[in-house]
Amino acid sequence: MKGEGLIDLRILVSVGEHNFPRDVAESLSDLAEVIYHQPGEEGYREALGDADALVAGMERVDERFLARAPRLRIVARFGVGYDNVDVEACTRRGVYVTYTPDVLSGAVADLTWGLILTLSRHLVRADRFVRERWALRRERLPFGIDLEGKTLGIIGLGRIGSEVARRAQGFGVKVIYNDVVRRPELEEAYGAEYVSLKELLQRVDIVSIHVPLPPSTERLIGEGELRMMKPSALLINTSRGKVIDQKALVKALKEGWIAGAALDVYEEEPIPLDDPLLRLENVVLTPHIGSATRETRRRMALVCAQNVRAVLEGRRPPNVVPEQIGKPIIPP
Ligand code: NAD
Repeated sequence: MKGEGLIDLRILVSVGEHNFPRDVAESLSDLAEVIYHQPGEEGYREALGDADALVAGMERVDERFLARAPRLRIVARFGVGYDNVDVEACTRRGVYVTYTPDVLSGAVADLTWGLILTLSRHLVRADRFVRERWALRRERLPFGIDLEGKTLGIIGLGRIGSEVARRAQGFGVKVIYNDVVRRPELEEAYGAEYVSLKELLQRVDIVSIHVPLPPSTERLIGEGELRMMKPSALLINTSRGKVIDQKALVKALKEGWIAGAALDVYEEEPIPLDDPLLRLENVVLTPHIGSATRETRRRMALVCAQNVRAVLEGRRPPNVVPEQIGKPIIPP
């Protein structure tokens, strides 16, 4: 897929053709050859050694990784979370790090509301009940809860958190939030009230987490925080698994400190089949599909392609991560 008579540049795509479609790859063919290999696959390591650009999934990009990629000029993260990328190490080596903010916020917010509805109306259990037991007429499902009039606590009112808040309006759900920065414009737009993390956990019916995963948010929600929540409360996490102490969560769900949880992300992914979370009835689990819609994944691919094109043409890419804004990125 290389244009004729052009310089010898290579783009390694590690997120598969289903995420970075062939036609998007073709749009870069005037510039470079696009090679697909997923981490762990035969050929990935070798392709990395020759790559000028990487469209990256969740592989760990650190000093060791970069040492195997001497030509690399850009790590274009296919996603908005880049906790798997050591940005400092990339900056030292003159490698741009870009991400795909905004284009996926709506999809993750939709999934969040899907999980809230699934938990509050026992939809997974209800589906199983219809398939296996309804016709036997021997038992009935427990009632769910109304959303109207309930309070949702958003931890991290950023791009995704604010889309979750916007959707809350339609459900008649009050929003309170905690963040390291206050967002007066969103307080005004959505009637969102700023509170401490402790007050949020104590007051709300539903907690939804939308923070990134720098070291400061690792295990932000541990045993102490879970014990502050109401026994009727629901916990939703579509951010990163490590934001919650998963062992403490299992305990909280088993012992009834909270009523239920819905998770799209886990401490370890894929979550091992023998993990105790998988045996609990009061949890709903999805396999990290926050951004997994056709339209959103395509937009993410196009954003990655734009960033890669900019760097390979010698320009600054439009979506550098905040840590690289205003910094000179100079290859050695
Ligand atoms: P963002 O940077 O726009 O928003 C994050 C917000 O969290 C910011 O407002 C920030 O100030 C706040 N924050 C940071 N540290 C905090 C703390 N200690 N306490 C309270 N608030 C804090 O990011 P975004 O685009 O909204 O994405 C959020 C995260 O969602 C990503 O970093 C990623 O990890 C995750 N995500 C998951 C999926 C999925 O498939 N499940 C998809 C996309 C993003």
